[in-house]
Amino acid sequence: MTHIAFIGLGRMGGPMAANLAKAGREVRGFDLDPRLWAAAVAQGLHAATTAKAAAQGAAAIITMLPAGEAVLAVWKELLGCVDKDALFVDCSTIDIASARLAHKLARDAGRPSVDAPVSGGVAGAKARTLTFMCGGEAPAFERARPLLADMGKKIIHCGEGGLGQAAKICNNMMLGATMIATCEAFALAERLGLSDKTLFDVASVSSGQSWSLTQYCPAPGILPTSPASCDYRPGFMTALMLKDLRLAEAAAEQVGLPTPLAALAAQIYARYASRGEAERDFSGVIRMIREGRASEAETADADERSKPA
Ligand code: NAD
Repeated sequence: MTHIAFIGLGRMGGPMAANLAKAGREVRGFDLDPRLWAAAVAQGLHAATTAKAAAQGAAAIITMLPAGEAVLAVWKELLGCVDKDALFVDCSTIDIASARLAHKLARDAGRPSVDAPVSGGVAGAKARTLTFMCGGEAPAFERARPLLADMGKKIIHCGEGGLGQAAKICNNMMLGATMIATCEAFALAERLGLSDKTLFDVASVSSGQSWSLTQYCPAPGILPTSPASCDYRPGFMTALMLKDLRLAEAAAEQVGLPTPLAALAAQIYARYASRGEAERDFSGVIRMIREGRASEAETADADERSKPA
């Protein structure tokens, strides 16, 4: 392979691109925010001043961007000006409709493409332990695999284009609801006089067991590595959980499937975020739940306020 272009050098993209460089690849990075360029150079990347300059002559273009519109804009800009066999890989979390459209644009331009959203957060991006959930045709996936292996640990082919995003939002839909259920159980246990530690000891070896409990316990002081034990510093920001639940809701609406639990979870995180906690870890919602004063009207109001204008 010749060089890799990496577009979007933020909290996730920065360390992911750095790991590609550490693996010995030549990486040309670009971000709209010029303040990130120096950090990229310090991590062994070549900083480009435009996406086109990064992508010219690249064997693969990787995008790690906030939303579907940004991914589509960058892919549209680059599809016409890159080498004809350049591979397009999008690692952002975006809506399925945009992911499918991105694949179509690539197909129409004769370029192979993969959607490869990640699980594992900033810590996983830094430690090279991300999980990639991939959608796209098998040959494109096989070409992307060694690149992804330089940035993560588990790489799963989920099926055709867009199904990586489907796997990601379905997983986070489970996580979002499970975390709230876990928080409610700790809140109730407290009111009943049962200690956090005792509930943890029982539930972690019983049928209430889940990743939210055993790997990411929302009660402080139980797991030294969970955000709960570090004042709920993320971890995974509440704003991102809310984003993913909204993507899940939009996907469910498109296929006509009622998902009331996911909708309620989104309302609860929206209310938590509206208290100035959007950048706090999502497990911090336990603090609001423990207060136990939320009225339904307050929840609905916060949900309304948190919707994009
Ligand atoms: P971020 O905001 O830190 O980084 C996004 C970067 O993209 C920014 O630096 C921004 O300047 C840049 N950007 C935006 N539009 C651009 C464009 N047109 N051209 C070039 N650069 C552009 O966000 P992040 O936390 O790194 O998240 C990136 C993606 O990864 C999102 O889709 C997010 O949902 C997903 N994700 C994040 C996490 C996490 O824990 N942060 C975990 C899993 C998935």
